[in-house]
Amino acid sequence: MCLICLGLNENKLTSMEGYANLSEMKDSIPEAHVDEVLSKLDQLSRQEVDQLIREFSADLNSLNQELDEKLSSEDDCYWEEEDEIC
Ligand SMILES: [Zn+2]
Repeated sequence: MCLICLGLNENKLTSMEGYANLSEMKDSIPEAHVDEVLSKLDQLSRQEVDQLIREFSADLNSLNQELDEKLSSEDDCYWEEEDEIC
């Protein structure tokens, strides 16, 4: 157990921070434990990517919904209030 593991256990580190810390600390950590930390960071970075993808698709869904609502009300001009083009 090292500072990086402590940070990871408490969810106080992102994988990027963990990798940065590891590159600074790897000389003071036993080699076997460096491998352990690397696999933890690898796992975390996958979770972070999954999370980003989930957020991104949620954003896309709500954009799509907004667009659908705007397109379904054909009589209303989308820009009307903003710059009075209509
Ligand atoms: Zn550790």
